Amino acid sequence: MVKKEVSFNKNDLITVTIEDMGNEGEGIGKAEGYALFIKDAILGDVVRCKIMKAKKNYAYARLEEIITPSELRTEPRCRFHKQCGGCQIQCMDYQAQLVWKQKKIKNHLVRIGGFEEAFIESKMEPIVGMEKPYRYRNKAQYPIGTDKNGEPVTGFYAGRTHDIIPNTDCMLGAEENQEILEKLLVYMKKNKVTAYDEKSGTGLLRHVLIRKGFTSGEILVCLVLNAERKLWEESRAVSEEAGKGHRYNGRAVSAETSEGHRYNRLWAQEELIASLSKIKGMTGICLNFNPEQTNVILGKEIMSIWGKEWIEDTIHVRDTEQFKRTGDEISFHISPLSFYQVNPVQTEKLYSLALEYAGLTGKETVWDLYCGIGTISLFLARKAGKVYGVEVVPEAIEDAKRNAKLNHIKNAEFFAGKAEEILPEFYRTKGIKADVIVVDPPRKGCDSACLDTMLKMQPDRIVYVSCDSATLARDLRILADGGYQIEKVRGVDQFGQTVHCEVCVEICRIND
Ligand code: SAH
Repeated sequence: MVKKEVSFNKNDLITVTIEDMGNEGEGIGKAEGYALFIKDAILGDVVRCKIMKAKKNYAYARLEEIITPSELRTEPRCRFHKQCGGCQIQCMDYQAQLVWKQKKIKNHLVRIGGFEEAFIESKMEPIVGMEKPYRYRNKAQYPIGTDKNGEPVTGFYAGRTHDIIPNTDCMLGAEENQEILEKLLVYMKKNKVTAYDEKSGTGLLRHVLIRKGFTSGEILVCLVLNAERKLWEESRAVSEEAGKGHRYNGRAVSAETSEGHRYNRLWAQEELIASLSKIKGMTGICLNFNPEQTNVILGKEIMSIWGKEWIEDTIHVRDTEQFKRTGDEISFHISPLSFYQVNPVQTEKLYSLALEYAGLTGKETVWDLYCGIGTISLFLARKAGKVYGVEVVPEAIEDAKRNAKLNHIKNAEFFAGKAEEILPEFYRTKGIKADVIVVDPPRKGCDSACLDTMLKMQPDRIVYVSCDSATLARDLRILADGGYQIEKVRGVDQFGQTVHCEVCVEICRIND
């Protein structure tokens, strides 16, 4: 085979038409068969780009100029959308985003899953889009850092970095977030409360987590501290005892604990509480302790400093034709450490689809794996004989049990542990059975030990709810090879402006 001469080098300027978009939303254009990946360019644009990194058959290039904008372009609402890593496709019309997501799901099932394109097309239903693709998130996590002038800032990490772009008003989040963040910054400046510094591991405030119940209106703020709870409490006691003078000039002063550790305090904590608690809907303020030098945002311990340590919210059941609410609803108790879907409106549609795909008549035994706080389990329980939920986060299982009681649901039982350990063990020792299995794993998909046991249990139906169509495709191949067939595939967009999408799949056992 004759190798093609690469005629492009770093810093070359090229004009190209964007013909496709990659999984991360980057524009893809071709120049003499050579593929160019260009961030912030969208399908249909004609752009001038500069090659940044040239490989043999492709290059990463930087958008220099949009020569002819695509018809699919729209005015982005956030002025930081290019720098911020959050919204990769905000400059694309929302309907076009949906078309692209539908295609992405199909491509993954075909290319990774190895299914026939015509077969997948015959099983795919139209993607379910959002009516309002902004301000839909009920949860926000803002990092806190220090700017060049030594002042505390909060905002978002610039794509692929840990540099904070100061921005207190993300267009995907609740409007109240801005007021919360600004009040927090005012408080930090006034009381010289330090922001965490990742490099040195010093400084106190790492992140702010804000959760809002869209139905209940309840808001919970959780401040993540670079501190260990035990030492924190000790240091408070010591500083309260000895440090009245310290507080006098409102400065942060380290307090020596009995173990010789030094921790800053949230000086004049009551000022912060007084300020935040006035915000409409505020029902709780709590602290989370994370002393590790890690990218993981939350530590394991929570301490309430004002109000409730959780929020309540309600999810309504919808029909799956028009997606109108049916009047049936389930309430949830959500603690800061538990997973809860971030887009409550679309979640109602997603769960209602999962319920329909489960095809329950009232008698079935259902296993809901990766059940979180029991959201899907409780949706299913009203229509099933018995539901068992499995989830790895113990706090979420506590929430799930409480949620069953809250909704007077008696036929749901929950187990804390890894799905890939609990399911095989229960199958081996207790011979558990299932008519329907629902899975809703994190992005990495299901563990093979979990899939193996699912196949051994031979349920009539499997409902797979996925937030990553690539790992979904991989797992569907395993299920298909194990005697199951895809019946329906439907995307539900939970994450407008971003490249992510949820998918719900109904899979049935092939009767032999
Ligand atoms: N079905 C729930 C949660 C889905 S998110 C809902 O819709 O709200 C995925 C959940 O899987 C998270 O709660 C996460 O904590 C949990 N999880 C992650 N790995 C797991 C594992 N190996 N076994 C069981 N649960 C796991």
